[in-house]
Amino acid sequence: MQGFEVSRDPARLPLEARVHPKWEIQKLKAPIAGVLVPLDRVPDPVFSQKSVGDGVAIDPTGNELVAPCDGTVLQVHPSGHALFMKTKKGLELLMHIGLETVKLKGEGFTPLVQKGAQVIEGQPLIQFDADQVARKAKSLLTIVVFSHSDRIENIEILGMSGDSPVLGIQDPLMQVRMSSGSKAQVDQPVMSGSSSLSSAQSLSESLKILNPTGLHARPASILVNLSKKFTCEIFLVKGDQRANARSLVALMSLEVGNGDLVQVDARGQDAEAAVAAISQAIRDGLGEKNEESGSHASGISATDTPAAPTKGTVQVQSNTTVSQASADSRPTSRVLRGVTASPGRAVGAVFQLKSQEIVVREKGESEEKESERLNHALCEAKFQLETIAGLLKKEGDSSRALIFEAHQELLEDPNLLDLARRQLSKGKSAAYSWKLAYLQAADQLASLNNQLLAARATDVRDVGQRVLRLLEEVQATGSQFPENCILVAEDLTPSDVAGLDRERVIGLVTTTGGSTSHVAILARSVDLPALAGADGSVLQIENGTLVVLDATHGELRLQPTAAELAECQARKQADEAQKKAEAERAHDPAVTQDGRRVEVVANLKGSKESTHAVGMGAEGVGLLRTEFLFMNRDSAPNEEEQLNSYRAIAQAFGKERPVIIRTLDVGGDKPLRYLPLPHEENPFLGERGLRVSLNRPDVFRVQLRAILRASEYGQVRVMFPMVSTIAELRQAKEILEEERIQLGVAPISIGIMVEVPSVAILAEQFARECDFFSVGSNDLTQYTLAMDRGHPKLASQMDGLDPSILSLIDLAVKAAHRNGKWVGVCGGIASDPQAVPFLLGLGVDELSVSIPSVPAIKAQIRRLSQLDCEALAVRALQAESAAEIRSWVKIEEN
Ligand code: PEP
Ligand code: MG
Repeated sequence: MQGFEVSRDPARLPLEARVHPKWEIQKLKAPIAGVLVPLDRVPDPVFSQKSVGDGVAIDPTGNELVAPCDGTVLQVHPSGHALFMKTKKGLELLMHIGLETVKLKGEGFTPLVQKGAQVIEGQPLIQFDADQVARKAKSLLTIVVFSHSDRIENIEILGMSGDSPVLGIQDPLMQVRMSSGSKAQVDQPVMSGSSSLSSAQSLSESLKILNPTGLHARPASILVNLSKKFTCEIFLVKGDQRANARSLVALMSLEVGNGDLVQVDARGQDAEAAVAAISQAIRDGLGEKNEESGSHASGISATDTPAAPTKGTVQVQSNTTVSQASADSRPTSRVLRGVTASPGRAVGAVFQLKSQEIVVREKGESEEKESERLNHALCEAKFQLETIAGLLKKEGDSSRALIFEAHQELLEDPNLLDLARRQLSKGKSAAYSWKLAYLQAADQLASLNNQLLAARATDVRDVGQRVLRLLEEVQATGSQFPENCILVAEDLTPSDVAGLDRERVIGLVTTTGGSTSHVAILARSVDLPALAGADGSVLQIENGTLVVLDATHGELRLQPTAAELAECQARKQADEAQKKAEAERAHDPAVTQDGRRVEVVANLKGSKESTHAVGMGAEGVGLLRTEFLFMNRDSAPNEEEQLNSYRAIAQAFGKERPVIIRTLDVGGDKPLRYLPLPHEENPFLGERGLRVSLNRPDVFRVQLRAILRASEYGQVRVMFPMVSTIAELRQAKEILEEERIQLGVAPISIGIMVEVPSVAILAEQFARECDFFSVGSNDLTQYTLAMDRGHPKLASQMDGLDPSILSLIDLAVKAAHRNGKWVGVCGGIASDPQAVPFLLGLGVDELSVSIPSVPAIKAQIRRLSQLDCEALAVRALQAESAAEIRSWVKIEEN
């Protein structure tokens, strides 16, 4: 790379050419491997403004600091994170590992040398645990600077060869041109035992050092710079030792700790002014938050010292917060944003997946021959899809299997086949006819501007490509993925995702889609981090570009710095360790610090998930979405089939743990082929949920009978979806009661979803009519904010933590509790760690979460205090936005 200079010398000649006999050269080798970062881009003003000295920063990839040249160790900071040395040529050099690492008080650092040691170039000086430090400190950026000296004429930063700012350990790092004459006094750290006073001097009173970690590099450099404003000699006196206040080394060598008493001793014309100014600066904390007074010296931004959480907020646990993520962002990398389709983190190289353009021959042979070709390809595709679905079912992954079963149906779609046959009859080739047909069908669906149908268009293209590949004998792209790649594409088909080699593909980024797409569901089911709806510029990123995908936070970081990489790796490891620790206590109850027990149950789609849910510590089922049993088939499941499924779940959870079975919730975004619903302008506001059941009592009664019969095998409860009026609820209850009497079974607990605002507003009346409420925050948000839950553009604004939603939940909880009923939350916010404190604070009794979230949500509840949560909830009800509310709670993560 081009060396960059920090210099008072504007000449850009090669250094050696400019050397004059009176100059000497001090060369330094890299004391650690890493990426060079110019000092002015270090996110700490003390270093970026060169208050400590001139030099460079390195984003380390190693974990050992070695001597960059021969010299003598002047000081090793007691916290082990920084070391001063004097080079053989007499310059003072500070090496400081990480930013704000003094706060770690030595944790993670192992100094290998002591003050006074003579060291040779390459000798190990400090070892550190990069993972631990990266997790706990603001940054791992390692600063290598020369203390200001009149002898330094020019510092040239050297890179390695080529364009890369990446350095190996002991690669050439810097060349300093310095005068070879006698050293200026400022280079001489003055420390002595003498403290005798002369008449032209001023001595301060004893001053207590209030800096939490004493006079480390940051406050010491502020003291040095302040001292330089005066002409008099200034010393800092501690006991019988004194140090030149213009020398950082001397000051740090005094090892002034928190609570130590010091005096300022000045001699010369402006001694009195100097003593007054420096004494005041010491009292003000020398740029750090002052522990006793709480004051903060000006000149250092508030972000240097993260603010303590305001009283009443719940600091869940973190070393990264939503707001910190930007404050802490490294200066060198670019961040692109999207929506979380599947949470998680990955570090890898970009691989652009361009959809395969298969060129086809238009003219066919005989119609008979081409038809035969097409039929053969369709049969083969069906066989492939059956095999995939079968394998997935065997693995117990029924939701993914269903997608491939749905694809098989597309192969028999009469419209699609008709379109293709029309082309065959015109003498076109099988491939041409098929391609035209499926692309036309997909475009038609996509143009309907309906999220559900648009997703279906992707499926049609996916199946279409599969058949086309068979016709043209083209291999799918899957096998060509490079290792450790983050796949970037405009759109991905379910087949793309299912066919991914998980050994090679570690993350996904698409410019389309949202969190509810099939691709998102598939990615989540295989724990693959995925970002959807990303900025279109991601498609321009070159293959091989190193990126950090933080799908959890909806971020893609391009060309991350070494510290960001280390941080990401460390967090991933910490995530895993945390999951393990949470799993160990998954079966313990979730009780807050102040003794409130909150039930944590799971959302299920079918009986196959029961064993997994029980194993993850679910204390019951808070929501069984029975519609999954009704989907992707030609007729509704009969009573026996439903009974088998519900009974299996009831038995898996046993008599002690409740199982809430929600009656069929179709319509809106969940159509059923065999239960045709009228075409509606606004299906979400039409025949949906309980309304469908009431309009089709035959289907409803069969389901209620199956639920009632299953209740004999466990603690089964029934719940009605999309209730909006009391009349609907009464009608549903009447039908239930008729079936119950006919079957002769005992009454069961009856609940309703609170997902239409009218129910929350009239919660008092509804509470008298049922046994429990369960808040469906997904729909409650959609109906309250008037935002379609599948709308990709509105996705980022649809937030269940909006104060309007919390106010409705508050109404529901208060009314329920007044009537002796309980309230759960089964929508997405129950699994959202940022929302949990507010839900507890509002008095919610049960959280029904996604199965993998059970141990983490339980663990979070154990760390919370109900009283704090209540204070937080009171504030939230007065807030103006979800963003404001979220800003109060740190995300629980590593
Ligand atoms: C909800 O709306 O929050 C809910 C849990 O129901 P579903 O997501 O199944 O509509
Ligand atoms: Mg709902």
